[in-house]
Amino acid sequence: MSSPPKILIVEDERRMRRFLATLVESHGLTPLEASTAKEGLALLTELAPDVVLLDLGLPDGDGLAITRRVREWSRVPIIVISARGLEDDKVQALDAGADDYLTKPFGAAELLARIRVVLRRSAVAEREPPTHTIGVGGLRVDLDARRVFVDELEVHLTPIEYKLLTTLARRPGRVMTHQQILREVWGDGTSARPHHVRVHMATLRRKIEDDTTAPRYVLTEIGVGYRFADPEP
Ligand code: CA
Repeated sequence: MSSPPKILIVEDERRMRRFLATLVESHGLTPLEASTAKEGLALLTELAPDVVLLDLGLPDGDGLAITRRVREWSRVPIIVISARGLEDDKVQALDAGADDYLTKPFGAAELLARIRVVLRRSAVAEREPPTHTIGVGGLRVDLDARRVFVDELEVHLTPIEYKLLTTLARRPGRVMTHQQILREVWGDGTSARPHHVRVHMATLRRKIEDDTTAPRYVLTEIGVGYRFADPEP
């Protein structure tokens, strides 16, 4: 049997750090604790954790700079933890290469769910060949044929809508910022702006969602971007 996944917690507030450590430990994961950026980077290189929970406000460096540094040499999933209301921080952290974020205060169930998503994604990326079909609920995307079905009925998408859908659907459960979506869908150096994403998202949703005010497949992360539904919540 393989050893339990190691979760590196980089957080300077002692109570928060202990809370996170106790929580992950009680769910069969191994916590590693660091209270500074320096300590966190040292543990990251020495112990190769499976997931990093990274507080953005650390005494000796900010989480954005750390995320960028880690991304130079590691693909380890990083979930940033930000203070309430700092939307820009979250967006910048995601643009810097973080995988997900949580806003304080958050619930234990939410944190564990996010950890499971990134762990599952790592496992899938290691083991499975690339998929040819993406399915969640009644939505099915045939990537080879470039066809999309909702409840077995084909829906016709424009090229941009299709790219938008598949860009998100290839990363289920993962939030993508407006900038990341613009780069992937429209390409580097595009003059398209976040409102273009919103416009095409609105038309895409009208085609694939039953109720565009309560979407099931592409969820809005307010002030940040979009997240494709996690097939196994
Ligand atoms: Ca802090």
